[in-house]
Amino acid sequence: MVANPQEPPAPRRGTRRRPRRESPLVWWGVFAVVGVAAVLLWSWRIALLGLLLWCLYEFVLVPTICRVMTRQGYACREPVRGRLFACGERHQRVKSDALWRLAGLRNPFRPKGRDADGRAHRDTGVVVFSPSVRGRLAQADRMLILLASAGTLVALAGMVYGLA
Ligand SMILES: [Zn+2]
Repeated sequence: MVANPQEPPAPRRGTRRRPRRESPLVWWGVFAVVGVAAVLLWSWRIALLGLLLWCLYEFVLVPTICRVMTRQGYACREPVRGRLFACGERHQRVKSDALWRLAGLRNPFRPKGRDADGRAHRDTGVVVFSPSVRGRLAQADRMLILLASAGTLVALAGMVYGLA
């Protein structure tokens, strides 16, 4: 008897099953359609809407990975959605701190005297990276977050101008 080649492979042990994520190309297709529509209709309102959509996409929708550095210095590879977010509560705290720093501020929500892990540093003999190092955003992430912030400002300014 020949094994059915159509049979789906058995799920590997030890790997968590994750829902499949759409390709970023789907999103870029949407942006392309909006862009073409804006040009064809010669409408800056549609262009602005497209810009706003793109900013929203970079902030909260883009399928990416967490990239927070673990205490041992590896970048976390858990999938997340949106450049502002991390895979879990702990990594989110590290990332939030980094985002506040990107804005030139201190995270006002973090209690003083604790690191982003919410615990005191211990001498464990392992190389431990400080939260500021661990939270350092990847160059691409930082650039896109700044770009999307600028885009949001432009879009908001355009709306105010459009309403006036
Ligand atoms: Zn993570």
